[in-house]
Amino acid sequence: MASTADRLARVAQRLRDRGFEVHEEPGWQTRGKGPMGTIRGIVVHHTATPASARGDYPSLRIVRDGRAGLENSLSHWGLGRSGKVYLIAAEVCWHTGAAITGWGNSNCLGIEAEHPGGAAQWPAAQLVAYHALCGELRREFGLGEDRVRGHKEIAVPAGRKVDPNFDMGVFRRAVSAYLAPAPPAPYTGPTYTVAKGDTLGGIAGRFGVTVAQLVAANGIADPNQIGVGLTLTIPAKGTSGESVVRARPARNLPQTKATQRAVHVKDDGFWGDSTDRAVHLVYRATRGEFPDGIKATQRALGAKADGDWGPKSRAALRETVTELQRAWGATADGAWGPKTSEKHQQARHLNYKNW
Ligand SMILES: [Zn+2]
Repeated sequence: MASTADRLARVAQRLRDRGFEVHEEPGWQTRGKGPMGTIRGIVVHHTATPASARGDYPSLRIVRDGRAGLENSLSHWGLGRSGKVYLIAAEVCWHTGAAITGWGNSNCLGIEAEHPGGAAQWPAAQLVAYHALCGELRREFGLGEDRVRGHKEIAVPAGRKVDPNFDMGVFRRAVSAYLAPAPPAPYTGPTYTVAKGDTLGGIAGRFGVTVAQLVAANGIADPNQIGVGLTLTIPAKGTSGESVVRARPARNLPQTKATQRAVHVKDDGFWGDSTDRAVHLVYRATRGEFPDGIKATQRALGAKADGDWGPKSRAALRETVTELQRAWGATADGAWGPKTSEKHQQARHLNYKNW
């Protein structure tokens, strides 16, 4: 039987494999008050450390070392504001306090997420990582959905604790969604590689499908942006393009954040419409087009938004394209060609609105 430390190390590795950042606090394997009993649950907390505390996980020291009168680690895991996961202890931690039967410190793993409490919102990247951490713990320890509880649900007397400040039903369903199996059978219909002079309408006509089907089947952001060399999946005739089922790989959190930094939107790890629009503006600028005006494009480039498309803006454009190419694994030459378009489509397919 693998030790608790071995199993927590496995969880850390699986998270890394899926693109999450994990910090192992030195000595975590033997930190705590003796070996854990059978692990039957996961208790999620927030630290209630003030938002003014600096850094990603300012609560690390107190969670690791405890405080006067509570000289022990306070939880096995920590979770920073950025979504970075901290592995702190593998032995018994003091995080439950008086609890309902079966939910004491010997049988429950604790996670203390950096958050001030109250009505403050959670960064998207932190919630995504919270779901993933609980999901991987459920997988490793064979725990069902209801074995993830909030401190506020297990503390006695009822009402003694208020953390975490989010709805636990929603949270548990999000953890289950994280664990949901990938779509079963990848679609293996014909593919077509875009050649010079092709239009989406022409390709659609050749295969007897509609442009809308092609767009849906390939997650195409902009039907006018079909790079030569891009490989399209042709959906079955008479179906919605969305019926093309492809095995969707795990989203790539660092890639999303790098993309967001390149186009100067908040790097919260969620590739939503604002990230998508900013990338689109960069692409259009490489064609000399400014669909939202020059100033909006300049903001995406991190250039001075003066509405004057001069040498400085052009230099910023080249720099931004280079950063996007690095984020997407394309050749970083600052020129947006077909290869960059293909890498862009891949990154977008993986990450766009993918929690
Ligand atoms: Zn708590």
